[in-house]
Amino acid sequence: MKLTLKLVVAAMATAGLGSSVLAAGTNHPSVDKALAHLKGLSAASQTADADAFSARDVVVDADGSTHVRFDRSFKGLRVIGGDLVVHADSRGNFRQSSQTLREALSTDTEARYDDAAAIQYAQSLFSGTAEGKPQSQLVIYARGATPALAYDVVMFGMREGAPSRMHMIVDANSMQLLDKYDEVMTATSTGTAKTLTSGDVPITTDSTVRPRLTYFALRDPSRGNNYTTNLKNKTSGTGSLFNDKDNVWGNNATTDTATAGADAHYGLGLTWDYYKNTFGRNGIDGIGSTTYSRVHYSTNYVNAFWDDGCFCMTYGDGDGVTYLPLVAIDVAGHEMTHGVTSRTAGLIYSGESGGLNEATSDIMGTMVEFAANNPVNPPNYLIGERIYTANNGVPTPTTALRYMFKPFLDGQSPDCYSGNIGQKDVHYSSGVANHFFYLLAEGAVIPPGFSGKIASTSQLVCNGNTAIVGVGRDAAAKIWYRALTVYMTSSTNYAAARVATLNAAGDLFGVGSTQYNAVAAAWSAVSVL
Ligand SMILES: [Zn+2]
Repeated sequence: MKLTLKLVVAAMATAGLGSSVLAAGTNHPSVDKALAHLKGLSAASQTADADAFSARDVVVDADGSTHVRFDRSFKGLRVIGGDLVVHADSRGNFRQSSQTLREALSTDTEARYDDAAAIQYAQSLFSGTAEGKPQSQLVIYARGATPALAYDVVMFGMREGAPSRMHMIVDANSMQLLDKYDEVMTATSTGTAKTLTSGDVPITTDSTVRPRLTYFALRDPSRGNNYTTNLKNKTSGTGSLFNDKDNVWGNNATTDTATAGADAHYGLGLTWDYYKNTFGRNGIDGIGSTTYSRVHYSTNYVNAFWDDGCFCMTYGDGDGVTYLPLVAIDVAGHEMTHGVTSRTAGLIYSGESGGLNEATSDIMGTMVEFAANNPVNPPNYLIGERIYTANNGVPTPTTALRYMFKPFLDGQSPDCYSGNIGQKDVHYSSGVANHFFYLLAEGAVIPPGFSGKIASTSQLVCNGNTAIVGVGRDAAAKIWYRALTVYMTSSTNYAAARVATLNAAGDLFGVGSTQYNAVAAAWSAVSVL
């Protein structure tokens, strides 16, 4: 038996219960004693003459008992699953060893296949995107019933949105996969997003531990492993996951490419939470599936979109003059809600159903903004107000893409229903439903900052009913969500939306309840009869 002591590593924090772990390089006498025990007790400790051991750490209890952990090699080959701990009392007397190896190794170390074959086989099995050259090492794999000569092939790359350092253990004589495991382990951590539109906010990220390197990624293990990538001005692909050393993301300005990522990641988390906390919905599809946001799409792109194909959101950078990157809270909520709609009512994106689809996104995007209640991006019934450069830092902006309380302030969206509304672009035909929602939630109230643009409350309704009283945002949102998920179908039009929301209000609050009657009054006030 050849016993060698190569190094003592692992300078870990002091263990609990009065034990301590010795610092790296400590040449503790218990190591030599433990090696001597292995030599003298080879039968009891499953050691072979061709074994060699290197001590990895030593735990010393308060009473002086020692626990020396060793890695094992056999004929110079690393033995996966061959590690063991030798326990001794305070006087150095052997107590027992802990290990999973059941008998001394006697494995033939002549391989039938070479490592190139093993690498090729492992590459064919890797489900992620590989980066760089795989590494391969001949080892003894001793985790199975019978120890086997194998190649430990390590593939580097990205897998399921996270960095991967995947070990594929390939039998060197049969080319069978014996085991695989990812060395990269992640944990939830809280980072700081220095956003463009919402100030400095906490976000959930993950910390990724690779040997000798910890870094962070814009990936949220607490919310479906959702993640955020940088498209670097391309128009296709998944993009690169944002990584960071200090878990502080962006600099509140577009000079740091991570800033837009910070906003998008924040908005994604807010939207996820809103659906979960308000409706008990687990993610966009209701079963918690992972989605992702791609920022820096194309160049000077003034839009954002949801794509059912990739189950992902995409954000442009704006034109750099009038428009900032389109990563504000309500835009994020809007885009994710398209995913919710496609998995529930499936409102077809044309005609009146298309307008209802768009309105659903504006309504829920706004509700996400209210739930966030961010002081830098205060909630309101404007859509996309924070993508305007001129609104940066303005607490009560009056310029936006759309105005739910009076849609025609955009010059395109009708305030009131008419029979040809389905011929308009869905971003304009949505106005009537947005208007309905505002009146249902708030009543005929002129919002802050708009008394100059809206002369009287009579301009907020189509039928002169300025006495209409709102039922509150929460009740209104619950009614809309239930209508969307229970009663609306792919071709629901405005008349059917009235019926669907009345059904929903009846279910939630009772037929003839205040809320039920308010739904009827709000639709009537936008000329949907
Ligand atoms: Zn949309």
